[in-house]
Amino acid sequence: MSWDFSTDSEYQEKLDWAEDFVRREIFPLEALELPQQQLVEAITPLQQEVKRQGLWAAHLPPEMGGGGFGQVRLGLLHEIIGMSSLAPVVFGNNAPDSGNAELLAIGIEENPESAWQREKWLEPLLDGRIRSAFSMTEPGAGADPTLLTTTAELIGDEWVINGHKWFTSNGSAADILLVMAVTDPDAAPRNRMSILVVPRDTPGVEIVRDIGTMQHPHPEFGRIGNHSEVVYRDVRVPRENLIGLRGNGFLLAQKRLGPGRIHHCMRWLGQSRRAFDMLCERSVSRYTHGSLLSEKQTVQNWIADSMAEMGAARLLTLHAAWKIDTQGVQAALTDIAIIKFYGAQVLYNVIDRAIQVHGSLGVTTDLPLEAMYKEARNARIYDGPDEVHRQTVARRVLRNYRSREVPSEHLPTRRAEAVKRFARLLETGADVLTPSVQEK
Ligand SMILES: Cc1cc2nc3c(=O)[nH]c(=O)nc-3n(C[C@H](O)[C@H](O)[C@H](O)COP(=O)(O)OP(=O)(O)OC[C@H]3O[C@@H](n4cnc5c(N)ncnc54)[C@H](O)[C@@H]3O)c2cc1C
Repeated sequence: MSWDFSTDSEYQEKLDWAEDFVRREIFPLEALELPQQQLVEAITPLQQEVKRQGLWAAHLPPEMGGGGFGQVRLGLLHEIIGMSSLAPVVFGNNAPDSGNAELLAIGIEENPESAWQREKWLEPLLDGRIRSAFSMTEPGAGADPTLLTTTAELIGDEWVINGHKWFTSNGSAADILLVMAVTDPDAAPRNRMSILVVPRDTPGVEIVRDIGTMQHPHPEFGRIGNHSEVVYRDVRVPRENLIGLRGNGFLLAQKRLGPGRIHHCMRWLGQSRRAFDMLCERSVSRYTHGSLLSEKQTVQNWIADSMAEMGAARLLTLHAAWKIDTQGVQAALTDIAIIKFYGAQVLYNVIDRAIQVHGSLGVTTDLPLEAMYKEARNARIYDGPDEVHRQTVARRVLRNYRSREVPSEHLPTRRAEAVKRFARLLETGADVLTPSVQEK
């Protein structure tokens, strides 16, 4: 039996290097708010260094240029990367490119005839030479993908796509859009859709706008991290641009979102920890109403509760990662759904407490907390809202229970059964009781 929470020393060295690197090289860049081009210039040598250290795109298997670490090791690395919103791009696993690369890879595995997509899109994506977006949500359909209305009709050797998408992250900055569309309207709801690669400069692709959000109320069009509204009007792409097999879009998206979700959860651990450090530092620094904040019970409760919640989220996340490594994604679906809503809430709670302990300073742009808070609010919606994950957990858990007219723990019923079973014992009475019981 092995039941072990330790990290082997060789990998720990990599983690130590990564943590030092993120703090030393990436934290300072956050404070500059560089324009996109300068940011890319600053980041490129850092990406080279990560590649030299063998930590680039660690979520992918070695044959695809990744570290092949498995989810537990990845979790420990992502926890560090998650401390800074700039770090994922430096380590080659920023959303949505990381998930899209996985999607292309799974598609090629599923349909070997599409192996040419590796050189055309997968490798450039992995090298950071092109950018991608995942275009699924529509103004009228999000949490329930069976309601999607965008269509792709096969006419001759071309797919003709028509539809309206919403919240396509990086849509205006992407070279390729991975579009989820209904290709088989008469099939069962989950077999109706396929995913197609659409180069952004294809005629008929209209990036209507980058949507203003709580994070970026006035987005600069084309900036990485924006969320686009996109219209596809008679967009024609070759038949071979299909990812994987026809009708498998929903299944592929599930495969993409499963590990993708856990990677978010891992990064949230690092974000929570950073907010927690700010919470603690402020509480031992600020004096008010006769004592330091750290001496007030409410603040002590925040620190204890945050510590407990972060510990629980960490264990749940790493346990889900371990399950994926040892039993596969399918076996870990309940665990992934649990950490998606629980981890998002813990992240939100800790940042909220860190803001509160800083008072007015907490809501200013002088601290990263206000930006972290807005990002954390998103976490409860993207990759499926909390309510859907809670529903998934409850449904899956309830599969193990059967309806019973009388509760199985009903004491009178259990007593009657016990009286029957131990009838002989009860008949002989005190003679068979052990001495210690007799004494009582
Ligand atoms: C920051 C961010 C980035 C995103 N990036 C992308 C992207 O790159 N590509 C893309 O395609 N989409 C993206 N999305 C969209 C995201 O996937 C959807 O917002 C999400 O699936 C929810 O869909 P919706 O917004 O249409 O909400 P709806 O489906 O309308 O749901 C609204 C609310 O209804 C409630 N609800 C829904 N279902 C249930 C249920 N079964 N039980 C109880 N309550 C329920 C929930 O409270 C939910 O928040 C992004 C979203 C955000 C916030």
